[in-house]
Amino acid sequence: MQFIETRGNDGVKPASVSFSEAILSPSASFGGLYVPQSLPAFDAAFLEKHKNSHYKTLAMDFLRSFGIDIDQEVLQAALDRYDAFDDPKNPVPLSEIEEDCCVSELYHGPTRAFKDMALQPFGYILSKLAQARNENYLIMAATSGDTGPATLETFKNQANVKVACLYPEGGTSDVQRLQMVTEDAPNLKVIGVKGNFDDTQNTLKALLASEDFKEELERKNIKLSAANSVNFGRIIFQIIYHIHSYLEMVRCGKIAMGEKIYLVVPSGNFGNALGGYYAKKAGLPIEKILISSNVNNILTDWIEKGEYDLSGRELVLTESPAMDILKSSNIERIMFDKFGAARTKELMDALASEGRFVLTEEERALLQEDFAASWSDDAECENEIARYVKKGYMMDPHTATCIKAYENLREKPLPTVIYSTAEWTKFSPTVAKALGHPVEGDIEALEWVAEHANVTVPPMIRGLFEKPIVHTVVVEKEKIKEEMLNFL
Ligand SMILES: *Cc1c(COP(=O)(O)O)cnc(C)c1O
Repeated sequence: MQFIETRGNDGVKPASVSFSEAILSPSASFGGLYVPQSLPAFDAAFLEKHKNSHYKTLAMDFLRSFGIDIDQEVLQAALDRYDAFDDPKNPVPLSEIEEDCCVSELYHGPTRAFKDMALQPFGYILSKLAQARNENYLIMAATSGDTGPATLETFKNQANVKVACLYPEGGTSDVQRLQMVTEDAPNLKVIGVKGNFDDTQNTLKALLASEDFKEELERKNIKLSAANSVNFGRIIFQIIYHIHSYLEMVRCGKIAMGEKIYLVVPSGNFGNALGGYYAKKAGLPIEKILISSNVNNILTDWIEKGEYDLSGRELVLTESPAMDILKSSNIERIMFDKFGAARTKELMDALASEGRFVLTEEERALLQEDFAASWSDDAECENEIARYVKKGYMMDPHTATCIKAYENLREKPLPTVIYSTAEWTKFSPTVAKALGHPVEGDIEALEWVAEHANVTVPPMIRGLFEKPIVHTVVVEKEKIKEEMLNFL
């Protein structure tokens, strides 16, 4: 399987690359992204074969049919990372919340958010590739919450990869911050930045653009890669759990094999939804993918109105911070698939220069063949959290945005899978507030919610409050470069 570019080829980069090249150097011509040249079929025969497969068996067969240039033993060891999830036999369990609706829980990994689903195996593979080539890589991340912890966790103590993670001081939850600053390994650097998430991200961009930083990397023979969902190495693992969730629906008797379902996906950068789209295209019986957002509802406009307009918008901070995103990177891969490279480049260029683009009527209709979208504000999410706790199910604020989409967007009475992208423990102050007991810190919230909603706090969250803090550096933006050069 080769990978091609969403904005076409500039004549300098190779016209197509292997999987390992696409993940080591994820930036394509004209600022585009890499996408698979074609998709294998995950059709009725494939589903029948895996009716009773464990997750790793399904995943291995899936990866093999993708024909990627990674050795079998490396893939197997990468998938073994799922053994550390709560239930090694089933890392992604399903819970029924309504007669015709189940929640597929993607958060049973080490950092309690769905980022682990892809970053755990991806981190192993990237490090192995770097070792095999005798190259050294630096992964830089600016995080407002879940990506930082999951990136640090997957790469800790992995050879030939260093990770530097910047977070806005005071801009994350206690749990998220502790997950980063207690992560102790010589190849990891965590730096708090005085400012908000935008300041942090801009600092990172400025650093990556600065000449003496680039020279220093070259002198030390360090290459840059990326671990965000522009990297196809993450996306490939985000197709598998959609197939698994479908089979779980069959196994628990909610559907017969071949029957269609709806998926509801709480979305930000659209990596999770893109995985569902590829699964649908490859033959998984999905009626439509329903996209849910918070008040940063630019994806709703894109799908419902065919317009994507950054110019009149300011990012709003919400109680579902992992979805506080206006520039959603993976919609580009959808547009490439539907409209081709020339049109995608035109649309993305318009977005860069004018801050907006508008699709034609036909293009919008093509989008709506696969997607519908809605959004919920914080108050609506708090209501849903409280309502479902009464019914015996605890969900986090990101998952709570899905309820409205499930209730309003289905055109047919088909069974539905909602994706839960984080455990409530990462957002316990919001959950406590939703349940009528606002408190200040995470520890108070965790204890109160655990006691009053009959749920437990897993050991890796509880333990965070006792672990020593190893990354104490919090600096002004201007000092980041110095810190980074010291680290390297
Ligand atoms: C990253 C994240 C999302 C958004 O996922 P995308 O693939 O970027 O759309 C949603 N919820 C949580 C909790 C996340 O960490």
